[in-house]
Amino acid sequence: MSCVHKKIEAALDRWDESHWYLHQIEEHYHNADALRYSMNAFIRSLREIPDMIAMALQNHEGFPAWHKPIRKSLEKEDFLFSQIIRHRNHIVHKSMLKPKSKAFVASIRGYTIKMQFGFYVDPFEDSDLAIERFIKMSKSNPTLMQALSPDEVQALALVREWHIEGYDEEIIESFRNSWLRVNEYLSEIMVFLGGDAFPTGLPPCFKDSRNFRYKKYHDFQARLYTFT
Ligand SMILES: [Zn+2]
Repeated sequence: MSCVHKKIEAALDRWDESHWYLHQIEEHYHNADALRYSMNAFIRSLREIPDMIAMALQNHEGFPAWHKPIRKSLEKEDFLFSQIIRHRNHIVHKSMLKPKSKAFVASIRGYTIKMQFGFYVDPFEDSDLAIERFIKMSKSNPTLMQALSPDEVQALALVREWHIEGYDEEIIESFRNSWLRVNEYLSEIMVFLGGDAFPTGLPPCFKDSRNFRYKKYHDFQARLYTFT
């Protein structure tokens, strides 16, 4: 079995790398620049996988002809992966990736949103700075904070949602789905080489995306009195 993995070792390593970038996206969800850099890295690494497969197995008997339609169904016919290609070409050849940012200030308990309202946060602004703006604003206009009425159990939170063009879903979800599609593609190759398919579905290290999208600010009271 190990020899099957060995044949496409470099592509599988790139595959692990793209997995690692998915966690970077989660970790940096509220940090605008780090998030964009992690998204760039994910898109680029994921896109390289079929090229690396083609390269590794170009001399493997029967592979190039078998791979052609498999690759086509990933790159041309799969909606999620074709968006990855489009964004990768944009990043590499044209310009920087500009995701769209949507944000809400909210009071939350666990994952339950008790109250929320839209709050404009620029795509280049970190959430910590945005919440500071909100807290400052609420000093002169306390009604918004009163409506949220955060306390020890009901935390003040900034709920953020990033989108990139072409995907309906928020990026953690859409990138996880794109990654799963590549998982299927790699499984087909493993089976062709005489190995086993990879397990389907997300590994357990991928937690509920709300863990990352909802950033709690338990210290908002302290922050409120820090500003003059
Ligand atoms: Zn993981």
